[in-house]
Amino acid sequence: MPVTTANAELVIGATRVQAAGRVNQTPVLNPADQQVVGYAPVADERMVDEAAAAAAEAFPAWSSLPAPRRASHLSAIASWIRSDAQRLARSLTLEQGKPLSEATGEVAAAAAAFDHYAAEAVRVYGQTIPTDSPTLRSLVIRQPIGVTAAITTWNYPLGLMAWKVAPALAAGCTVVAKPSEETPLTVLDVISGAAAGLPSGVLNSVHGPGATTGASLAAHPRVAKISFTGGTGTGRRLLEVAARDIKSVTLELGGHSPMIVAADAPMDLAVSDGVKRSFRNAGQLCNSVNRIFVVRPAADEFIERFTAQAAKLVVGPGLGDPEPDVGPLSNAATLTRVEEHVADARRTGAEILTGGGRPEGERTQGGFYYLPTVVVGGQDMIMMREETFGPVAPITVVSDLDEAIASANSLDFGLVCYLYTRDLRTSVDGAERLEFGTVNVNSVGGGDVRFPYAGWKQSGLGVELSREGLDEYLRTKNVRIEIGYQ
Ligand code: NDP
Repeated sequence: MPVTTANAELVIGATRVQAAGRVNQTPVLNPADQQVVGYAPVADERMVDEAAAAAAEAFPAWSSLPAPRRASHLSAIASWIRSDAQRLARSLTLEQGKPLSEATGEVAAAAAAFDHYAAEAVRVYGQTIPTDSPTLRSLVIRQPIGVTAAITTWNYPLGLMAWKVAPALAAGCTVVAKPSEETPLTVLDVISGAAAGLPSGVLNSVHGPGATTGASLAAHPRVAKISFTGGTGTGRRLLEVAARDIKSVTLELGGHSPMIVAADAPMDLAVSDGVKRSFRNAGQLCNSVNRIFVVRPAADEFIERFTAQAAKLVVGPGLGDPEPDVGPLSNAATLTRVEEHVADARRTGAEILTGGGRPEGERTQGGFYYLPTVVVGGQDMIMMREETFGPVAPITVVSDLDEAIASANSLDFGLVCYLYTRDLRTSVDGAERLEFGTVNVNSVGGGDVRFPYAGWKQSGLGVELSREGLDEYLRTKNVRIEIGYQ
């Protein structure tokens, strides 16, 4: 059943703004065949203002609601998401393209985020600091920041939004969410469902172009916190906006994740994990393997086996039967960038070992498909320094581990690094020397709500997920009480 206009609505306080019949709405395309799968209403400046005002009005009551009651609301949202998981997963695949099982995993991760922060909501502790007076008390309490603008991108639409909305609500903030125009339907659907069980104004949604709707939301004077996931350039602009009013900001930005394959790497694991993390979601993950440094003694075997596995991946529509390994890219711009990066690699003399073009055949006609591609070349390829955000794995052979680590650290990005070795000392020493918010040794585990996720360098500011992710929505207050008065 395709997504219909009925569930693409905005929540602005107690009002629901439907797409149907509106002049100002955007069509959402299925990247597998470019058919329209739904429409989402575009919020103008007045609607953004009303949403921010509704969130500001709801803030005093929501922030002072006892934490266990806020936690119950979050648990109810998690249950509701789980109860409707199949429909939501299908909707995600239709608008984003990923294989249905990956979409099902994303829906489960969104529900898990609400459960996790329901549990954390009741653990927002303060402290008492000893003073040098018997009659002076010094307390530290944590309080919610206020209205939060949650702005996210299209590659993991529901998961990314849940990772913001759940901790913000748990902390006692109220929220105005703005999903990407590329993939708004499932997020807007979940926000409508979640908001139905919350007091009016606690959770609101707007939708529309980042340059207008997103920018007015971020700059709105009633918004006290901007929580953003997207490109580094947009993150930089939002920092400038935040600077004007000294707003609190959390940024999860672009990455360019290296994988290092040491001479003693566990080869079976390195190959299968590398393929998985290079091509999952068609390479459209902030923590995709973007560049592989393989140390010379391991190079021949790794490259041969990696290429053979990549060549076996099946490309097709996310709802296809049998399910493909790799779906279409989400939009035309991404497909164009992939083609440009591969053309550039060819110009530098790189070898394309598999892929290197669009697939042929009826199954993939009309969609934004690109074959899983393995490239062996030098570090002068654009794809070795800029995010391709597509199913392309560039491999460079290096002489030793020091060169691999120096190369990995050489970019301005610092989101995730993957290191494959059997040696304990290399694991520990390498993990400490690598300048990334996450270092995975012999593992490609992705975002887990229990573990902190932070971009170093130009990959972000602040922390998402885990207990630390909740702290991003709280501010510290010192309360000093003198009880020695007459
Ligand atoms: P963009 O930065 O273009 O867009 C992200 C969101 O911001 C969208 O909702 C967009 O709206 C909105 N937006 C754009 N301009 C503004 C503005 N001036 N003010 C307010 N909002 C604005 O991101 P991309 O589409 O390029 O996303 C891909 C990037 O996201 C990649 O670099 C990827 O690595 C990164 N990413 C990072 C993650 C992390 O956790 N570190 C996770 C996932 C992705 P609209 O699109 O509707 O115009």
